Amino acid sequence: MRKRRMFMALALAGLCFLTACAAPEDVKMNAQPQTRQFGEIAISSLVEGQPGCEISGKIPLTGVEAVDNTLMQWAMGQVDAFKQQAGDLPTMAGAPCSLTMEYQPIWYNTDTVTFYFKQYQDLLGAHGAYLLDTFTFNLESGQQTTLQDIFDPNTDYLATLSKLALQKLREQPESYDEYMASVGLTPKEENFAVFAPEPEGLRLFFSPYQVAPWAYGMPEVLIGWDELQNVLRAQYLPVELRLTGSPKEEKLIALTFDDGPHPTNTVKLLDGLKKRDVRCTFFLVGERAQEQKELIGRMVAEGHSIGNHTYSHRGLNGLSLSQVQEELNKADEAIEAVTGQKPKLLRPPFGFWEEEYTPFIGKSVVFWSIDPDDWGHRNTSYLVKHIVKNAHDGDIILLHDMLPTSVDAALQVIDQLQKDGFTFVTVDELMEKRLADANPSQSFRKLP
Ligand SMILES: [Zn+2]
Repeated sequence: MRKRRMFMALALAGLCFLTACAAPEDVKMNAQPQTRQFGEIAISSLVEGQPGCEISGKIPLTGVEAVDNTLMQWAMGQVDAFKQQAGDLPTMAGAPCSLTMEYQPIWYNTDTVTFYFKQYQDLLGAHGAYLLDTFTFNLESGQQTTLQDIFDPNTDYLATLSKLALQKLREQPESYDEYMASVGLTPKEENFAVFAPEPEGLRLFFSPYQVAPWAYGMPEVLIGWDELQNVLRAQYLPVELRLTGSPKEEKLIALTFDDGPHPTNTVKLLDGLKKRDVRCTFFLVGERAQEQKELIGRMVAEGHSIGNHTYSHRGLNGLSLSQVQEELNKADEAIEAVTGQKPKLLRPPFGFWEEEYTPFIGKSVVFWSIDPDDWGHRNTSYLVKHIVKNAHDGDIILLHDMLPTSVDAALQVIDQLQKDGFTFVTVDELMEKRLADANPSQSFRKLP
């Protein structure tokens, strides 16, 4: 059955693989970073007996058989249904008759992609009809992801989606109609069937007439994963909210230092850490790594963790993914030349970061949960008080080891918090202990 279907599809399709395809001239929807280039298969055909009635479009070819079969069968089903409708209509010169299909990949992480399809069918109507569909696949397993895979089936996730989608639409009042939305967002599976999991949350797409009149277009909303935390399955929870299942026996906390090392202050810090048998995490700027070879070597030898803080301490916001990757790769190379290891952690300078890049950089993006503003407050006792007062299990503390006040404060904080039962760990150790799945495609401020 599947074979026959495939054969029909190819026979009717103007076949075009990879490079043979024309450049994608279709509408550019939001540009998303891509990890893989897909091939494409073109569908184009005339409806029999209906000259001037044209079917055209493209379907992605991922190379994963289960995925490609699903998409092909679906697309050909759409084409067949359209042809049947068109065939049932009387042939009239000049009457509109066309189907166009376009798609866009939307990435959740390097393995999970959603294909967002938009069809425009024009058949004798006053205006044509847009049909929206999404398919989410894991490209490793070939499995399709459904809402039930994302949400905990023991919760009333449809009611939550319904409520939050309406809230989001109300934030863009020109995009929806209150009455239509009250009908179109009732908590039913089919009202939320067109979705894409994205790094920041779940995107929902609405067809014309679902929540708004035709003239309003096709609104979409993005609901943050944190807003859905009570109804999500664990793997879609933001890292900070994930429970690992293992009971917490100890209070863990991580000290992190950016922008160093400094020829004297860092030495004092390393001496103090060694005396206390404490390891921490240093985020280094690539272009300065060579000058500080010796101190960095000592950090590594004494068990501290080294992270990437870009090559030139550049704010990474507003850059393209490839510019970000270039900046990070240069820093990786400079740091690896000194330490022999490629950093697995990134601390973006100033905390400026485009969250949608996280899945593509092969590193964990480490922000912080305690920032005493040590540049602003060069006062050891203030810093100590601030940190100790705010310290909780799983926190990540931001300091700078070029500041002598920060170095003194860090050592005093260790003494006080150790008495309170805290164990100081590197960010890597914190991840290892607190994340069931420490894959690099994540960013966090603290850990559960
Ligand atoms: Zn910095």
